Amino acid sequence: MTRELFDTAIVGGGAAGLSAALVLARSRRSVVLLDAGAPRNAPAAHMHGFLSRDGFPPSRLLEIGREEIASYGARLVPHSVTSVTGDAGDGFVLTTDEGVEIAARRIILATGVEDVLPDIPGAREAWGRFLLHCPYCHGYEVGDGSLAVFGGVPGAVRHALLLRQWSSDLTYFANGSAIAEEDARLLGARGIRVNDGRIAELLLDGESFRGVRLESGDVVPVDAVFLRPESRPRTELVAALGGVVDGAGFAHLDASGRTSVPGVWVTGNLVDPRGQVITAAGHANAVAMDVNADLVDDDVRVELLETR
Ligand SMILES: Cc1cc2nc3c(=O)[nH]c(=O)nc-3n(C[C@H](O)[C@H](O)[C@H](O)COP(=O)(O)OP(=O)(O)OC[C@H]3O[C@@H](n4cnc5c(N)ncnc54)[C@H](O)[C@@H]3O)c2cc1C
Repeated sequence: MTRELFDTAIVGGGAAGLSAALVLARSRRSVVLLDAGAPRNAPAAHMHGFLSRDGFPPSRLLEIGREEIASYGARLVPHSVTSVTGDAGDGFVLTTDEGVEIAARRIILATGVEDVLPDIPGAREAWGRFLLHCPYCHGYEVGDGSLAVFGGVPGAVRHALLLRQWSSDLTYFANGSAIAEEDARLLGARGIRVNDGRIAELLLDGESFRGVRLESGDVVPVDAVFLRPESRPRTELVAALGGVVDGAGFAHLDASGRTSVPGVWVTGNLVDPRGQVITAAGHANAVAMDVNADLVDDDVRVELLETR
């Protein structure tokens, strides 16, 4: 049986994947978008900083995106892609977790990142509500309260200095790390309290947050804790195609989103884990145009071969 060959398969249906799908479907390309349905900001009730959609439920933005791409004929497959083979010459074959195979000339990966949370009770439950990472997403809403920073992870002191912009009631928990003299000076200069304790638990009480429990047993009441988690890019599919993935898991060669595998691009948080919804969507918009240009070149090459 001959498989339908899509011009582009997009893996990941968050803001980036949907944005790429919209541009390509409007370029009259056949598009299939495969999505496992777990966008990074799913735990958050509201999305901020997206011009004209500030405060929107993130799920609603994606729902509208799916309606838009469907109206241009893009096909949506609500499943995870588990493997990919092939190349840009003969086409790629993607296999879903249901064993369905889909063929495509080009691939855009918009699979996002996994935020690695501390292995302490309450962290997962509080994530996106009381355990936060992004001052630009949540800082305005919690800025009047008493905030804490989960220290002892890379970039934590800088994170605390940034958060001081939103709240003057800020505690830096060292979490067992030694604080360099210069860091102590910077935190002190901004009136940020330093607590040497190690956070053992985030205390949730139903829908409200009580604060942190330290290993010493002390409970420190705060309204929210900020953490800079490690964000692991989901680039396994690039690696499976033999592409170069760096030590931190990134696969793009430059800001254009091209990878070392011809015909495969990455976009959204896969290129910039600090990217917001609007920047993830914006990057994907540009990637989609690059992919369309590449397909145009391929179409010309094929026509020339056929008329020889
Ligand atoms: C708690 C929280 C709150 C946030 N709040 C804001 C905010 O207020 N404003 C803002 O601008 N940004 C916010 N962000 C950042 C925002 O989540 C990201 O910028 C945005 O989600 C990036 O979009 P993306 O499309 O690159 O990735 P994602 O939205 O993460 O989408 C990736 C998609 O790919 C799917 N996927 C992964 N692997 C596969 C696979 N193998 N096969 C098929 N599908 C797959 C996933 O299930 C997911 O649906 C927040 C982030 C967090 C964690």
